[in-house]
Amino acid sequence: MRGPVNAHVHLELPALPSVGGQGLVPWLMSWRKDAPARRDVAMANARYVAAMGTAAVIDIGNLGVGGEAMHAAGLDGLAFTEVFGFDQPHLADGVEHATPHAPYSTHADTIRCVAARGEPWSIHCDEDVAERAFLADGSGPWPDVLRASKRDLSHWRTPGLTPVRWLDSLGVLGPNTLLVHCTLTTCADLELIADRGCTICICPRSNLHITGRLPDVLGMFDAGVRVLIGTDSLISSPDLDVRNELPVLLEAFPGVPRSRWERCLHDDAWDFLDQAGGAA
Ligand SMILES: [Zn+2]
Repeated sequence: MRGPVNAHVHLELPALPSVGGQGLVPWLMSWRKDAPARRDVAMANARYVAAMGTAAVIDIGNLGVGGEAMHAAGLDGLAFTEVFGFDQPHLADGVEHATPHAPYSTHADTIRCVAARGEPWSIHCDEDVAERAFLADGSGPWPDVLRASKRDLSHWRTPGLTPVRWLDSLGVLGPNTLLVHCTLTTCADLELIADRGCTICICPRSNLHITGRLPDVLGMFDAGVRVLIGTDSLISSPDLDVRNELPVLLEAFPGVPRSRWERCLHDDAWDFLDQAGGAA
């Protein structure tokens, strides 16, 4: 059996104090201004991950150093370069291994551009109530946050949909799609995710820190969705050893045997990577 896969990590982000338990927006605001993403951090984090026995990662970075760090540490997997900009439709143009950040932060055309490449891609999705409110009826903190960041919202029409349904309305969901978090995703959307052949990556300790709740993993299993496990970054998770997510899952879902979680870490994760074509 091949080694465990950390299916969602941000290697270049250092450990920083952050506000927990109040949702995504307060968490983001508590660290973003002072968080330098750094090459040396990515190298050190990749070495740590490899030393803990992880065999592969799916890394999300902004500096383009993830692949170099993974290679130096002997890690297999995928290194994505994250793009976001709510009012900028062409951010993925010319960016190799580009992947969009999230529905509330990335222009629909950028997401379409990435998905149209026919390669694996990932997106943070349905992580927090503010994302749902923004897409459902334009309420919640995101409009003010985006305007405060000098984003032009004049092109935006509130879709009145859940995050999963909005992505589906763009025609982007398919077997290459890795939906990260899905903390709030409910039964009907999980069935749609299964129908589209998407994979979900859950990040339990990060979810508990930021929003205080875990996703409906049993619903994911019932719907037949492939589920992978990641740590997310050191700003929301105490360490980057994905095996340390298992005690949380075993306690929260006592009816699920350890072997089922091991499958998420090993066989199912490698199936996604093999389908994606392999290494960084
Ligand atoms: Zn993340």
